[in-house]
Amino acid sequence: MNIILLGPPGAGKGTQSAGLVERHGMLQLSTGDMLRAAVKAETPVGVKAKAVMDRGELVSDEIVSELIDANLAAMDAGTGAIFDGYPRTEAQAVDLDAILAKHGRTLDHVIELEVNEDALVERITGRFSCAKCGALYHDTANPPAKEGVCDSCGSTEFKRRPDDNEETVRTRMQEYRAKTAPILPGYEARSIVTRVDGMAGIEDVAAAIDGILS
Ligand code: ADP
Ligand code: AMP
Repeated sequence: MNIILLGPPGAGKGTQSAGLVERHGMLQLSTGDMLRAAVKAETPVGVKAKAVMDRGELVSDEIVSELIDANLAAMDAGTGAIFDGYPRTEAQAVDLDAILAKHGRTLDHVIELEVNEDALVERITGRFSCAKCGALYHDTANPPAKEGVCDSCGSTEFKRRPDDNEETVRTRMQEYRAKTAPILPGYEARSIVTRVDGMAGIEDVAAAIDGILS
């Protein structure tokens, strides 16, 4: 099973990907996570991407498609892939079809998380993650069960993304509207798109996604 989770920044793609990995043994391919790792390691890609990411703009199609290709090549053929934050442009959607074909895979579902834009700024400015295992949290909507302690690994260190500020979020939303939303009609024409109410609680969204995959 190969699926795309589509939705604007803060829609819940990362949160739902983590659940799918845990429940179904799929693998999450998040270009955002890959780029942040490259920035941290100061690789040539990371050095190039950092300023673009800090502004909330999109990194070049070539860079992200190469990351996806390399990660899929390293995956076991029988393991399902969750594309999180990729593709984000029409050129990336074309690249993904070619990359999937190259690896003998097909795209089964595009799941669109529908969210109210007004809620996204609050979701993103309240987002933080465990510095050790990456588990995702939110100040009010999804805090750790015990304050200051990660539910998943027990770490007491957390971090916030430098691009999770109100100004950058506005740019990221504009990028989504202008460049990412237009890829949906192409997938609709292939009858593989299902919409899920991303404003529902995390568990309800997870149940709706499981319903699509079953
Ligand atoms: P994305 O990967 O689409 O940018 P995330 O999964 O990182 O979004 O979610 C953004 C923030 O919103 C996180 O802090 C997360 O804990 C919170 N969140 C995710 N899903 C929901 C939900 N259904 N209801 C409320 N908050 C949510
Ligand atoms: P995300 O973690 O998905 O919110 O992505 C964080 C940032 O990484 C984005 O604002 C972009 O700058 C960059 N990025 C992630 N994925 C892509 C992609 N598929 N295409 C272009 N830029 C991307």
